[in-house]
Amino acid sequence: MIKKYKVLIGNKERELSIIKKKKKNISLQVKPSMEIILSIPMRISYSYGLKLVEDKYAWIENKLKKYSSAADNSGVYYLGKLYPLKTEKSEVSIRIGEENIIFNSSENFDLVLNQWYEQKIKRILEGYLEKHTKLMELYPKKIKIKPLKSAWGICYSSGTITFNLNLIKVPLDVIEYLVMHELGHLKYPNHSKEYWEYIGKYIEDPKSYRRWLRKNGYKFIGGETLWDR
Ligand SMILES: [Zn+2]
Repeated sequence: MIKKYKVLIGNKERELSIIKKKKKNISLQVKPSMEIILSIPMRISYSYGLKLVEDKYAWIENKLKKYSSAADNSGVYYLGKLYPLKTEKSEVSIRIGEENIIFNSSENFDLVLNQWYEQKIKRILEGYLEKHTKLMELYPKKIKIKPLKSAWGICYSSGTITFNLNLIKVPLDVIEYLVMHELGHLKYPNHSKEYWEYIGKYIEDPKSYRRWLRKNGYKFIGGETLWDR
């Protein structure tokens, strides 16, 4: 059961979700997506939960500050670079100019952007898959691209690999690492020592990319920190 409240934190109205769970402990989370979530045991009332959160306003405000500066952008990420957005009457729906991304003002921005992203990441992934499936001699059964909420990529035991559409926003070398990371799971479906040793034969210091994603990934998606699964 979940209840939503409007609370005033740092002079701004924020949404707080209080969730009752079958568990014993209380936990408060502030997500990079700016969501504030309090989980409480069934026996505690929502109003008591609200009081608990009040004591934590300063802590919450601090967290929100950290995330808002990271997500404060008004442009379009493409291969690790933030391009300012320019809207004008244009022949093409969307294109990269010298210093900005130009978008045709008469179209639906979200729709056009996502289609454009998909087209771009598809081509890039195809290139890296072609190269690395041969080198690693590992072949996925199926490749999918989706705007995943929980990971940059997922390799299923069925042999299907799903890549996050948002990968188009991170630098090319990180995309290439992700391809190798997921292919490696066709051989080792875990993050064991053997797995990392194996990946290390194909890419130098693979964990450095993982750390980079962990540290910087959320900036590109304005939200959650995602893992390579
Ligand atoms: Zn993994």
